[in-house]
Amino acid sequence: MPLYEYRCPVCGEFELLLSMGAAGREADCPVCGTAARRLLSAPGLSRAGTPEARLIERTEATASEPGVVASPPAGPRRPARHSTNPLHRRLPRP
Ligand SMILES: [Zn+2]
Repeated sequence: MPLYEYRCPVCGEFELLLSMGAAGREADCPVCGTAARRLLSAPGLSRAGTPEARLIERTEATASEPGVVASPPAGPRRPARHSTNPLHRRLPRP
């Protein structure tokens, strides 16, 4: 559902989350109840560029364009491939 902006003459601007087509030219202010006029703006564009929007875009992009890295991520060290137990040295080797 898109966000619609209204401007109350008393309180100022506020946003309403309404379904498509449900937003009228006027809506009652949620604070004072005065009729507020809808502002003409592209719904949703006010959130473009915010950290939340960038996170969503990056997350969606990884589905088709996984990021290329130069090295594996730093994490816990992998266990050694050979045993460090001295008793294992006596075992027959292949
Ligand atoms: Zn108001």
